[in-house]
This record gives sequence, C-alpha cells and structure tokens, in this order.
Amino acid sequence: MPDHPRVIDLRSDTVTAPSAAMREAMAKADTGDDVYGEDPTIKALEARAAELTGKQAALFCPTGTQSNLIALLSHCQRGDEYLVGDQYHTYKFEGGGAAVLGSIQPQPIPLDKERRIPLDAIAARISDDDIHLAKTRLLALENTCGGYSLPLDYLALATGIAREHGLATHLDGARLFNAAIDLDVSAASIAENFDSVSVCLSKGLGAPVGSVLCGSPFLIKQALRWRKMTGGGMRQAGIIAAAGIYALDNNIERLAEDHKNAALLSELLQGIDNVEIDGPHSNMVHMKFDDTRTKHLIEYAGSQGLKLSGRYGIRIVTHLDVDADDIRQAARIIRTGLS
Ligand SMILES: *Cc1c(COP(=O)(O)O)cnc(C)c1O
Repeated sequence: MPDHPRVIDLRSDTVTAPSAAMREAMAKADTGDDVYGEDPTIKALEARAAELTGKQAALFCPTGTQSNLIALLSHCQRGDEYLVGDQYHTYKFEGGGAAVLGSIQPQPIPLDKERRIPLDAIAARISDDDIHLAKTRLLALENTCGGYSLPLDYLALATGIAREHGLATHLDGARLFNAAIDLDVSAASIAENFDSVSVCLSKGLGAPVGSVLCGSPFLIKQALRWRKMTGGGMRQAGIIAAAGIYALDNNIERLAEDHKNAALLSELLQGIDNVEIDGPHSNMVHMKFDDTRTKHLIEYAGSQGLKLSGRYGIRIVTHLDVDADDIRQAARIIRTGLS
C-alpha cells in the first residue's frame, strides 16, 4: 500500500477539479441563449477577459483548440500560410485543423532551446509575392510553451518582423497568465504584441472547460461566424462561463504557488544518476532519460498513487490541486522509482 492515501496527479494542469466555491458560482449563474447574444454571464466573462488582455473584444469558446482554430480561420484565407513553431500546439496538437478545415498551410519552424522561433527564421520563411508559393499571412506564437515563457523583448522583436511584412499575429496563450506571473509583467503587456490571443480557463486557472479568444471587434465578429460553423455556438453556457469568471477573479495570482512547487520539485530531483532535470519553467519540470526508464517509472509511480506521463522522459506539471507536501511525496516516489 502506498503510505500516502491520495492520488497525486502531475500529468497536466488540466486535471484540476472545480472547487466548491467555483461550483457555487456556477450554480448561481444567470443564463440566457448565447447564440442570440443573451447570456449575461458569458458577456461578463468576455468583458473581463478582454479587459485583462487589453483587447476590445473577446469570444468564449468551449476549448482552446477551437479558439485557436477560429483565430487562424479569421486571420487567413484558403491558400494562405501561417508561420508556427514545429512544437507549438497550433501546429502539432490540434489535429491539423487549420489545414484540414481551413485549407491554411502551416509553415512549421524548428524552435530554439528556449522554445522560441529564431528571429532570423521568421524573416527568412515569409514568402515572396510569387504564384508558386502560399501567401504568408500570419505569425503564430505560443506563451508559455512547455512551461518556458517567451519574454517581452523577444515578443516585440518577433511580432515587429511580422508586422513589417504585413503579417497578422496570433498568440496561443493557453497559459498566458503563467507567462505573466513568471515574467512578472501584466498579461496585457504580453498580449499587446498580438492581434489576437487565446487563453485557456481549463488549465492552471482551474475551470472545468473553456477558452477565450481576445482581439479587435472586427476580428471577433469574424471569429463568431467561424465559432458557429465549427459547432461552438452554445446556449445557456453562462453556467460554465461562471466558472471562468471565478477562475479569473481567484486563480491568477495563486499561479505563483504552482511555480514555487515546480521549483521545489526541481530542487528535490537534482542529482539522480543519468537524469537531466530541465526546469523549473513556470509550472513545469521536464525530466529527461531513456524511454525504457520512462515506462518503468510511470508504472512504478502509478502503483504508488502518483500519476505521471511522457514518452521520452516526463513532463511534470504543478497545479492548484497539489501542494508542497504532495510535491515532497512525489519526489520521494520518483527517486525510489529511478533507483
Ligand atoms: C491545452 C492547450 C491548448 C488548447 O487545448 P484544449 O484542450 O483544446 O482546451 C492550446 N495550446 C496549448 C499550448 C495548450 O497547452
């Protein structure tokens, strides 16, 4: 029997359960039919998200995959191309949606060690006006990426190059607030570099579902049409938007605790033979070693009440349902599992 009775789940920050206070806010939410634009709680969430990102408008979506997709569809036409990191979610982990559903071609660019698209690669990959080539229309970045936060000076330079060439800019800010806390800047100061920003409510912010796409009223009007077409027009969804408002009101500042817990874990995992610890990076720590040990460790940890995941090494993610004691217990299990 594991000596720690409760399951510690460090696979992702998506695993958080809505708290009692969040559920209470959901139960009390005013609702209306949002396809008619009549849900006051959704309107309030969109206003709040727009304010926090310094944009004029926002659109509530069920998932981050959908808010990214409709952003790409709003920025690009059929036959256009977007520049994207080859490890970014909008290229690799959204089922190829922009290409499949939008006939928009990705131009994936290898990331550097800091998970950035190298600045010289941005300019080099923008296509000339040539009938052989897809038209480069958009630069899509991601912050945080694998927990790494892209700093403001990089964002300004990268999006500056894009703008000089007439490209639009989109940020996959699934973990925008982790980046803001990690960099000690406002979310709006990150978002101001971009025409549109998507933010997940269901990651470290602890809501059960939801993402908001933020941008100009013009962009959001186009995105609204795409959201309906892709099946994201929801009715009395104020009941889930209330969880998002609760998350924005209560769970942003506390992300600092998740970052502290990631730092604690990284410290406790130092010095294991043949294991490279990469991090902490905001709320993540990456452990790198060969894949046979990965499989063994995941199995062993599972038997001890610790959930881990990864293929060639392990990505550990802290969140609001784990505390420092859980982290100490997790470190003990990992050390034993690797010994
Ligand atoms: C989780 C995530 C998304 C969106 O995911 P959904 O599960 O569709 O909400 C987008 N980008 C990044 C970087 C993510 O981590």
